[in-house]
Amino acid sequence: MDLPKRKTDIGPPNYRDFLPPVISKNYGDWKYHEVLSPGVMVHHAGSGEKIWTVRVASPRLLSTDTVRELADIADKYCGGYLRFTTRNNVEFLVSDEAMLCPLQLELNDKKYMIGGIGPRISNIVHTQGWVHCHSAATDASGLVKALMDEFADYFTTKELPNKVRLAVACCTNMCGAVHCSDIALVAIHRKAPKVNHDSVKNTCELPSTIAACPTGAISPDSSKKSVKINDDKCMYCGNCFTVCSCLEINNPDFDGVAIVAGGKVGSLRSDPKFSRLVVPFIKNNPPRWPEVVEAVSNILDAYAAGAKKHERVGEWIERIGWEKFFRITGLKFTYQHIDDFTIARETFRTSAAFKW
Ligand code: SF4
Ligand code: SF4
Repeated sequence: MDLPKRKTDIGPPNYRDFLPPVISKNYGDWKYHEVLSPGVMVHHAGSGEKIWTVRVASPRLLSTDTVRELADIADKYCGGYLRFTTRNNVEFLVSDEAMLCPLQLELNDKKYMIGGIGPRISNIVHTQGWVHCHSAATDASGLVKALMDEFADYFTTKELPNKVRLAVACCTNMCGAVHCSDIALVAIHRKAPKVNHDSVKNTCELPSTIAACPTGAISPDSSKKSVKINDDKCMYCGNCFTVCSCLEINNPDFDGVAIVAGGKVGSLRSDPKFSRLVVPFIKNNPPRWPEVVEAVSNILDAYAAGAKKHERVGEWIERIGWEKFFRITGLKFTYQHIDDFTIARETFRTSAAFKW
């Protein structure tokens, strides 16, 4: 069926307008793919035609210059066709096999890391962090840089039992894919916001500020023409700070990172899984977060040594049992790992969806 040609500003343009001609021509008839090297794969169509993919890591926060450079490389070697994956890898889609080598040479020359395909880590997806978002409890891009420097070999050459997806979210709003990644970091606040009373009365609307709190912890403080926060009801979500910047939640002494593990999106071999808490808190230690890097490294090493071929992190943990997972990784099992109904009932801190 012919697609309507009109252009509007409503919604994204039709993705079919951006497919490389060889994909359009063989649409729905792609049979299988082969991984040729850590950063190159080829897809075969029923007609015998092929398309090659060359994957590189991106720095995630991209300058205009980097985007222009990527676009220029795509123009030169693959008719301008490239795509960004959900993990922010950049994939050049090459229809002419003769272009494969020169493309890789130029990417190497320009210091792009080629890899991330097959049983290894791909680019680490992360959220905005201190660079951009006001409620961030950590610097997502700095943390990911520290991790990626440590694990770069697992992107370019070294193999793991299966693919390992890493993610970082810089607060519990969790714009990143933390709940469904093999190993992920989620930054957390641990103190109720501090109210700057002088500014509240000049800057914030009290009704919307009070209504922003999912646990009903904020109430009017008429003596100060401001609001007060009941610490016992606060779950440190930062929602109020989004509405009223005078409720300062960022705290250099108490903000940091929790680590979760075992999530996955795919339904191959086992159902999709949510990640579970493995490390409740590590204090922010910029610029290189050595404690976080060491903890993630421990989990990755234990997985690489103990998992069977094709087992994802979550499948490996379920096979050996969580008790053994904590024993071999040396991670401490603490009361924060126990999500029981008593805590929820007595503190109301574990859900944003209850009613008083
Ligand atoms: S995860 Fe939180 S702090 Fe990070 S970008 Fe999203 S809302 Fe902002
Ligand atoms: S629960 Fe969230 S919205 Fe309510 S006071 Fe605490 S940080 Fe603010």
